Amino acid sequence: MGFFQFQHITAKYEKDIEEILTYINFDRTRKLSIILFLANITFLFVDYINKADGLWANHSYRCLFYSHVALGLVTIFYIIIGYYRIKAHSANDMALVHKIYVIFFASFILSLATIISGWIDQKIHGQITVYVMICITIAVVYNYKPKITAFLYGSCWIAFMIFLGISQKDPNIRQGNYLNAFLLVVLSYFLSVMLYKLKIRDLIHEYHLENMVAERTKELQTANDLLTQEIFERKRAEEEIIRLDRLNLVGEMAASISHEVRNPMTTVKGFLQLLKDKQDPKGKEYFDLMIEELDRANSILSEFLSISKNKATMYEWCNINDIVISTLPLIHAEALNNDKFLTVELSKVPDLQLDIQEIRQLLLNLVRNGFEAMPKGGQLKIRTFSSDTEVTLGISDEGDGIEQSILEKLGTPFFTTKEQGTGLGLAVCYGIASRHNGRISVETSPKGTTFYVYFELSK
Ligand code: ADP
Ligand code: MG
Repeated sequence: MGFFQFQHITAKYEKDIEEILTYINFDRTRKLSIILFLANITFLFVDYINKADGLWANHSYRCLFYSHVALGLVTIFYIIIGYYRIKAHSANDMALVHKIYVIFFASFILSLATIISGWIDQKIHGQITVYVMICITIAVVYNYKPKITAFLYGSCWIAFMIFLGISQKDPNIRQGNYLNAFLLVVLSYFLSVMLYKLKIRDLIHEYHLENMVAERTKELQTANDLLTQEIFERKRAEEEIIRLDRLNLVGEMAASISHEVRNPMTTVKGFLQLLKDKQDPKGKEYFDLMIEELDRANSILSEFLSISKNKATMYEWCNINDIVISTLPLIHAEALNNDKFLTVELSKVPDLQLDIQEIRQLLLNLVRNGFEAMPKGGQLKIRTFSSDTEVTLGISDEGDGIEQSILEKLGTPFFTTKEQGTGLGLAVCYGIASRHNGRISVETSPKGTTFYVYFELSK
């Protein structure tokens, strides 16, 4: 079970692992070339001493020196190329270049070791150690696929045999060396393959863990998002409840007080009208003013009364677009009077259960606020649109927006920033929306404000 799972994971990450290994091999080649370069300085120094001792009369010592020169040149070349990053067009090209860089170096040092051990060792004993060292170094340093490893070791072993066949005349020594080299190559191959597999296992575990951590992080992130959303919703609901509470209280007060105040007011108005007719023209002005003020007080009371929750509402199935269209003449007239422009975008929306008078009032209140928020020439936009769950009415103006401190108080009865304002318009709107199971949201910026009224579609 464990093994199959391992196989499965290996296949899944094969490409990534291949890339990582290529990079690791590349990096190690750069380091190995530096180490060999530094070691080579010692070799050359020994060569120099040999020369001073007159050993160069033996042809092999000279060959040894030449091989060290070759090693020096190639290592310098590799150091330079390795540090002046090789440029390639794509990531694939880059990987290929890296692979070639690495395999060439490995082949080079192995071939050099083969020449030194297979040929020179037969004249100056002890050089076979170089072969042993390089074979093991390659197994330890590089993580090649077993195929490449087999190719490298196989070809160098054949070369070694050929060199040995030519330069070693003593059949006993030759036989011994054949055997030693063969054992060494086989051992190095197994060492290399084992280390390769261990490395892969290591990487896969790391990967697997990384993936698990990433998955877990993602899960947590989703949970966190949900939680944030929930907190946000809850906060909004709480605010809504506070607002409605306030409305309720005021609504109840409104219902009882308004009637009480209206009756005496009607009486006063009646008598004022009576008295007005008996006055000389100059005094009539004052009476007109008094009556006007009484009418204004009365209209405030009417508005105040419409906050009341207990008011009887008349729901009927109708389309909000029809209500908007039937109110348009009034809105147009107001726009014209105030030098403002109006655009209307009505999408096809489903019917809802609405109290037509109330929705008309809500629309007018929001439209009036929009007009009042804009300078002359401003454009007001009325839109309707719907989703699967709700129908939305949007009223956007091009005013200066609403400050945060004011935003928090919107809908509080009698809260106004206008000299002539009553501060009841929005309170009424919130009341109407809540009676329709709807809600109101505000989007505001220094470029303008949009009030959205959402009506839920009954399932
Ligand atoms: P009123 O219009 O009588 O002031 P409202 O309840 O209609 O009362 O509005 C309350 C306050 O909300 C307004 O005084 C104004 O400051 C603010 N307000 C409402 N609508 C807008 C809007 N579209 N742009 C800017 N401010 C607005
Ligand atoms: Mg208003």
